[in-house]
Amino acid sequence: MKSIKDMLLRMREDLVREIARRSKVSTEGVMTDIGDILDSVTEERTRELDMILTDREKKKLGRIDDAIDRIEDGTYGLCDECSIKIPKGRLKVVPFAKYCVECQEKLEREEKYMREEPEEGIKKVPAGEVEE
Ligand SMILES: [Zn+2]
Repeated sequence: MKSIKDMLLRMREDLVREIARRSKVSTEGVMTDIGDILDSVTEERTRELDMILTDREKKKLGRIDDAIDRIEDGTYGLCDECSIKIPKGRLKVVPFAKYCVECQEKLEREEKYMREEPEEGIKKVPAGEVEE
């Protein structure tokens, strides 16, 4: 499982780097090291993050962190919905996958009907899973 964890950590790093690059452009000088912010998530910092990250990025980051948590828990690789083992091939492509393909598709279909995807960065209310 270590290699998947490494992969997730690398994805997280890539995402953070991407955000850092963008935030340097938009808020130059303010965000000197977003990596530090993401590594030490205090409440204050979470608020800062809220302003920088788009919903999409928050979601992705949340998923990656979640997957890392599940590796620690030993529940990684099991579908959160139907508890079957998620095929290794899928995990290679989507290492932070939380559901098997069938459940994922079912959930996506349902979500699509439930609400339209908000414009990136405009809507601040999380989809309902990020809340601590
Ligand atoms: Zn499933």
